[in-house]
Formats: sequence, C-alpha cells, structure tokens
Amino acid sequence: TPELQRAEGLIREIPDYPEPGILFRDITPLLADAAALRAVTTALAEPYLGRFDVVAGVEARGFLLAGTIAAMTGTGLVPIRKAGKLPRPAASVAYDLEYGRAEIEAHDDITDGTRVLLVDDVLATGGTLAAACELVGALGGEIAGTAVLIELGALGGRALVPGVHTVFTV
Ligand code: IMP
Repeated sequence: TPELQRAEGLIREIPDYPEPGILFRDITPLLADAAALRAVTTALAEPYLGRFDVVAGVEARGFLLAGTIAAMTGTGLVPIRKAGKLPRPAASVAYDLEYGRAEIEAHDDITDGTRVLLVDDVLATGGTLAAACELVGALGGEIAGTAVLIELGALGGRALVPGVHTVFTV
C-alpha cells in the first residue's frame, strides 16, 4: 500500500553503528510519524487478528511496536527483557550471538495456554526471535504468531523462525 511504502521510506540507515561495518536500521523516524506508525502496526498484527491474548515485545524496540499493537487490538502486553532487568523472572533462555551469548527473561504473565503474538523490529540471524519463542514455550504459552517489521533477508534468519511474518524485507 502507499502508506506502507511511505513508512518504509522513513526507516533511517546509519552506517557503522553500533560497530564498524554494520548498517543499522533506525525506526525512530517511522515511529514518530502517526500515519506510518499506524500502517506498520496494523500490517504486523493483520494475519493474527482475533487469535492472540497478549503481544510480547523483545527489549527494547520490540516494546514500542508491541505496546502500540496491544493498544490498537485490545490485547495485553508482556515485556521480554534482557537477563537481570525483571524483578521476578519465571523463565529464561540463553542463546548465541555473533560474538558471545545473550539471555532473555519474562514474568509468569504468560502461562499455560496464553496465546502470544511475538513482535520485534528487526530479524537478523533469527537467534533473538527463536529464543523468544522458546521462552514463551517454557512458560506454557502458545505462539499465535511471530511478526517483525524489517527482515534482513541475506542473513537467513527466517530459517530459525518458520512462518515469521515480516512487513519489509531488505
Ligand atoms: P538476531 O538475533 O540476529 O536476529 O538480531 C535481532 C535483534 O537485534 C533484534 O532484537 C533487533 O532489535 C536487533 N537488531 C539487529 N540488527 C538491527 C538493526 O539494523 N537495527 C535495529 N535493530 C537491530
């Protein structure tokens, strides 16, 4: 749609951030634009409407999209945080990064049978989203769907997250 095309044009590319050689996709100009924010959050949730109880966003930019989708669709919101940030984590999953390891945690607001829409801003290697799926499963939740704004196609992250719905592929 023209709205989504316009929204894609608001994604800013920052060379050499956070490290030399990385082209960082910065979605803050898109978030600041009312029509673009509405268009992308509508597109993220659209395949899963009526089939999820909560939206879970991965720290930190996933929070922004997840909260907006939750408010728009009348569903709950669950933060998935980096280890050590939540006061009473109920589950944690460690996963490999390009350099080193990371760990994510969530509270028990996801429980047996909670239908979860998982959201993040960028799908790169897929490690983060795959770990988030595992975390939801460890709490007894069901993955209603996974949705990411920008897929970095060359990195092949889709292989780790079968069926992921992405709005823009670059
Ligand atoms: P992955 O685990 O390799 O798929 O990396 C995805 C995670 O890294 C997501 O949580 C993203 O927010 C973050 N990420 C990777 N590349 C970018 C980028 O270019 N812009 C913003 N976030 C990114």
